[in-house]
Amino acid sequence: MLAAVVKGVKVVALEEVSKPAMQKTTDVLLKVTATALCTSDVHIVNGYMPPSPPYVIGHEFIGIVEEAGSSVNNFKPGDRVAVPPLSYCGLCEHCRKGMPGQCLNSAVFGSGATWGGMPGGFAQYVRVPHADACMVPIPGDISDDEAIFVGDMLTTGYYAVENCKLKPGATLAVFGAGPVGLCAVHTAQLFHPAKVVLVDSLDHRLALGKQMGATHTINLNETDAVAQIMELTNGRGVDAAIEAVGDQKAINDAARVTGVGGTLSIVGLFPGNIEFPIMELLMKNVTTKVGLSYLGNMPMLMGLVAEKKLDATPLITHRMPLASFAEAYDIFAGKKENVVKIIMTP
Ligand SMILES: [Zn+2]
Ligand SMILES: [Zn+2]
Repeated sequence: MLAAVVKGVKVVALEEVSKPAMQKTTDVLLKVTATALCTSDVHIVNGYMPPSPPYVIGHEFIGIVEEAGSSVNNFKPGDRVAVPPLSYCGLCEHCRKGMPGQCLNSAVFGSGATWGGMPGGFAQYVRVPHADACMVPIPGDISDDEAIFVGDMLTTGYYAVENCKLKPGATLAVFGAGPVGLCAVHTAQLFHPAKVVLVDSLDHRLALGKQMGATHTINLNETDAVAQIMELTNGRGVDAAIEAVGDQKAINDAARVTGVGGTLSIVGLFPGNIEFPIMELLMKNVTTKVGLSYLGNMPMLMGLVAEKKLDATPLITHRMPLASFAEAYDIFAGKKENVVKIIMTP
């Protein structure tokens, strides 16, 4: 089958690999119907994690069950399913205390040996371990475009928002209008905020933010974002700020605009440790939350997509066949053509 393979630092290419074989009775073999490039893929290709090539990349994908192991009870061949970025067992100590993202038996799809060595979804087929525990059915009336974002983008965006404990009428600032920041803006609507201020340097992404629920947008290249947010909140600062960039300045600015007793919620991925503005946060009694998404929210988010209360499809700027992976990767990694998300079909 055809798959995108990481061959070394900054080297990824499409090639013929063998179709994955079922290994355990709890496995499912999935025929991939749609897959999306993620900034994490670029980090992986660029060698943020210790390289262990070759491996098939990709952790955002959905598909149709081709074959289900004998112990799989919830799924059968032909079922459409969404898959989280990592497979989790649902049985271990971490899973049982509600931390499936830290499952002791997990493997992250398409991220190399450091994270479990599980081949990823930029392929025609992928093996999904612990299928009963981690896969989520896609209701028939939900399109692939709607379903693909439930596994990573919507769970992460929602997690950032949920940590803010927003009350109706609250004010929220989101730093970063990448797909996760935009999904945070979008899922924040579920909490009925009065103001959602989105900060980024790219106008086309800010425009998308308006479409997805931002009440105010700030281009940080044109305005002092901190000053403007303080003005928008009568000098008090926002009830909550989300950092969805992974950037020192964004953390500093987010800390500065968070008001007394507010929340700073961090979901950005940083290339390493940073200087943390602890005194700014301490003096204002700001609750600070950091973490990966809660994958157990996938069924709930799929339900909201089915009810048309959430729709992340405006993120899709490009559609390409998997055969055009090289071109898609070049556009995505180079942030060309106002790209936000590229859907690829094997
Ligand atoms: Zn991702
Ligand atoms: Zn587990």
